[in-house]
Amino acid sequence: MKGTKYIWMDGKFVAWKRAKVHVLTHALHYGSGVFEGIRCYETEGGVAIFRLGEHVDRLYYSASRLKIKIPYPKWRFTKAIIETVKKNRLKEGYIRPLCYYGYGNMGLPVEGAPVNCSIAVWPWPKYLKPVVRVKASKFIRIHPKSTYADAKICGHYVNSILASIEAKGSGYDEALLLDYKGNVAEGPGENFFIVKNNQLSTPPLGTILKGITRDSIIRIARDQRIPIQERPLKLRDVLKADEAFFCGTAAEVTGIDSINRKRFGMAAPGPMTTKLRDTYIDIVHGRNNKYRRWLSYVS
Ligand code: PMP
Repeated sequence: MKGTKYIWMDGKFVAWKRAKVHVLTHALHYGSGVFEGIRCYETEGGVAIFRLGEHVDRLYYSASRLKIKIPYPKWRFTKAIIETVKKNRLKEGYIRPLCYYGYGNMGLPVEGAPVNCSIAVWPWPKYLKPVVRVKASKFIRIHPKSTYADAKICGHYVNSILASIEAKGSGYDEALLLDYKGNVAEGPGENFFIVKNNQLSTPPLGTILKGITRDSIIRIARDQRIPIQERPLKLRDVLKADEAFFCGTAAEVTGIDSINRKRFGMAAPGPMTTKLRDTYIDIVHGRNNKYRRWLSYVS
C-alpha cells in the first residue's frame, strides 16, 4: 500500500513506519476495536472531508456498544482527523480512525483494559472496479442478536472477509450477503440498492451497517423525487431488477454487472446508477452547492 508520512497515535504524530502495537494487544486477538472509513476529496475550495460529523458520531456510537471510552471529546477527535489529513498534505484519499482495547489485559472482560486510538490516512483511489460481478455468499450477515449489527466493530469484519474470500475464490469481484431471514443484506463493505421501473429499493436497517453513503443516496433520491423504499428484498426479486449497485465510502457508487452470473435488465452501470453516481461524485468534490454542509474543509 502507498502510505503517508505520519499516523496520529494517542494524541501524537508518529512516523508511518513507527506506528506499531504490542503483539498482545487485546483487539488483535479478539477484534475488540471500532473504526471508521472516511474519504477526503480535492475541491475548488481546498481539501474537504465528506460527512465528517456523521462518521465521528458513528465511531463514538460503535465505541459505546463495546464500552470503549474514547479519551477525547468528539470535537478534539474531529480536530485530530483534520490535523492528520493536513499534516500529511493528503489531497484525496481515505481516513481510518481506530479505537481499540490495547495491551495490558488478555481476559475477555474489558474492565480496566487500556483504550488506544489512532488515525491513519492514505491515498486509495479505487476500492472496487467501476462495475463488479457479484456472488451471493454462503455466509450470512452476522445475526443482530449476536452483536450490534449497526456498530462498526473490528471483529465483525471476519464475516466480511470470509464472504470476500469465497467470492474471489470463485472468480467473482465481490460478495453479497443475505441475512438470517434470507433477505439480501449488504456487501462486505458496502450497502446495496436495486432499481426497478425507475424506483429505488434498499434493505431496511436491522441487519446492516447504517451506511453514510446509503443515507446520502436516499437523501439525493428524495431531493430528485426518485421514489425510494427501504424494504426487505429477496434474492429472486433482486435478480429481476433493471439495475443494482453498491455504495459505501470506499466503493462510492459501484454498478453491479451480475449476481451469480445472472445479468440485470440494463447493462451496468445503468442510467439510474450513473445519474446517482455522478451526483454523488459532484457533491463530494464540492461541485453542488446544495450539499455544501456535507463537506468539512481541511484548511
Ligand atoms: N456495510 C458495511 C459492512 C461496511 O463496512 C460499510 C463501509 N463502512 C458500508 C456498509 C458502507 O458504509 P458507509 O457508506 O458509511 O461507508
